Amino acid sequence: MQPNFSFMQQSVFDNMQQMGHEQVVFCHDPHSGLNAIIAIHDTTLGPALGGTRLWNYNSHEDAIIDALRLSRGMTYKAAISGLNLGGGKAVIIGDAATIKTEALWRRYGKFVNSLNGKYITAEDVNTSARDMEYISIETDFVTGVPEYMGGSGDPSPFTAYGVFMGMKAAAKKMWGNDSLTGRKVLVQGVGHVGQYLTGHLIEEGAKVYITDINQAKVKQTLEKFHSVEVVDGDKIFDLDIDIYAPCALGATVNTESINKMKCPIIAGAANNQLADENVHGPMLIEKGILYVPDFLINAGGLINVCAELEGYNRERVNGNVEKIYGRTLEIFDLSEKEKIHTQLAAMRIAEKRLKDIANVKSRL
Ligand code: NAD
Repeated sequence: MQPNFSFMQQSVFDNMQQMGHEQVVFCHDPHSGLNAIIAIHDTTLGPALGGTRLWNYNSHEDAIIDALRLSRGMTYKAAISGLNLGGGKAVIIGDAATIKTEALWRRYGKFVNSLNGKYITAEDVNTSARDMEYISIETDFVTGVPEYMGGSGDPSPFTAYGVFMGMKAAAKKMWGNDSLTGRKVLVQGVGHVGQYLTGHLIEEGAKVYITDINQAKVKQTLEKFHSVEVVDGDKIFDLDIDIYAPCALGATVNTESINKMKCPIIAGAANNQLADENVHGPMLIEKGILYVPDFLINAGGLINVCAELEGYNRERVNGNVEKIYGRTLEIFDLSEKEKIHTQLAAMRIAEKRLKDIANVKSRL
């Protein structure tokens, strides 16, 4: 599976065929102002679980592209994490500061419900456990609801812990020792995940640099962790750092940024970090930069919400999130052995599990 992402020249169906999507649902409700796209990539392993992103996209095409790419990433994330879940994701088009209402979430919940469990939603960028609570009035196919409602709440601490584990594995591979003490780490985006990640890094004794376009988030992080250093967004690659942790939005690892990068490791939470995996995966190898595949390292939140469906046990979740360390090392080994970039190595392991389990399911 080697899609190129020249979406604009292609129809939605061409893109679905190229990327292997099963279904895309367009949801519209003029009363609440809801315009949503639910993308179901692959249900071989189980129902498609993935968060709902709320974003003010520049165009409807951008929103479709995001939903398609993100849902495909969820298939790989579930598959590589050993979860019995398919890949799906939804996007709602709008301004998070003004569009959120009870009516919007409940109407959206009804659309999710109409899919009868084929798609299960959760939080993502600009959506919270409180929003999931409204959705849960209209459907049972929602996870990440608040703890007081019997859910597991915000998945971000688990995502951050998984990123921390993957980062330590990368340190082990690069320097022969997984300690991050004294290492210089740049966290780009100090939202939910970025702040928890900063906490783990400070606790380990790393030197943390942060950047965010939202000054309120920068202030919040500085108040929690006095030792962090703030960097301007356009100066981040001038820094002499050990690890770049993208924790904002996708496609920040591109030709321009790779050319500027001096760090030996990229390990962060953002989805779809590589602007084009076929171009930038090999480019990172050539430059000697060790990249921890995004869908592997940021699976902690998915592992957590999946546990909600099976009967929640926090210790078991933590144990499963810690497995990201070993999986990261496995992928580095395969990448070296097969002489392929790390994203491709991770995709091959995920695709093998998809094939194997499809075969298991086809037998009596
Ligand atoms: P968030 O919205 O809470 O935080 C994102 C932060 O990035 C915000 O503070 C935002 O202002 C900042 N940001 C946006 N553009 C930026 C830019 N150009 N430069 C610097 N900062 C910028 O989101 P989150 O929940 O922390 O998720 C972060 C990333 O990790 C997203 O890509 C998300 O899809 C991914 N992810 C999150 C989870 C989770 O459990 N929350 C799980 C898997 C993947």
